[in-house]
Amino acid sequence: MASYAILLAGGSGSRMRGAVSDKILAPLAGFPVLVHSLRAFLSAEVVHGFVIVCRDDAQQSAIQEAVQPWISPAFSLRWARGGKERRDSVLNGLLACPDDAELVFIHDSARPLLTTSALLELSVVALRDGAAVLAHRVKDTIKQAPPHPRPVSPAVLQDLDRSTLWAMETPQVFRHHLILDAYRQIISAGIPITDDVAAAIHAGHPVSLVENLSPNPKITEPHDLHWVEFLLQQNAAAESASPP
Ligand code: C5P
Repeated sequence: MASYAILLAGGSGSRMRGAVSDKILAPLAGFPVLVHSLRAFLSAEVVHGFVIVCRDDAQQSAIQEAVQPWISPAFSLRWARGGKERRDSVLNGLLACPDDAELVFIHDSARPLLTTSALLELSVVALRDGAAVLAHRVKDTIKQAPPHPRPVSPAVLQDLDRSTLWAMETPQVFRHHLILDAYRQIISAGIPITDDVAAAIHAGHPVSLVENLSPNPKITEPHDLHWVEFLLQQNAAAESASPP
């Protein structure tokens, strides 16, 4: 059975307050942002096809041009349209996968530092357990505050035990039917979620954490572009320096 990567490229925050025309296509270390993730999937050989979820026709044409040189004709490339919220875009991506798809790797294309080794580990764990997510341990001290935290009274600024905290990344990987059923439940019940693990957990499925020791940030603010580009250049230099 074939596995698919769902690359999310929709959403309204893509211009990052006018800093770029589309963060998913911004040039970084020689390639558009989305192409870095695509290359990681191609080199890990964990999927047989891609579903790229786009905001509109114009974005689809631009992404098609960017990915064309990388994808051989034998490779399956499908398209889906993004929705209002990330969860709507994911559901459209899941529905665009073939019915008999085995695993689906749901990935924010705004995370270009995805590595081949992380994908290989995710694939093994998801095939074994049915659901796996890339994540890192939280190093900062985290406190819970109300939405408008000033002035902060001692009673409302709560400490969370950081030894139990993990920050979720993507890809988040699931058996196709498991996550499709979970998303249908979430959307019909109108439950707000910000990642796919939340949908799986809501539907009662356990999810295995795969610890990622290398940085895999999501490009969100204009200044993220500079340090993500620096990290991509460091990775490329390390690869070219290592023996074959
Ligand atoms: O907005 P944010 O950066 O959190 O989005 C995470 C990922 O989900 C991005 O890759 C973005 O392109 C995608 N997204 C989407 N549809 C939406 C919102 C976000 O495909 N409605």
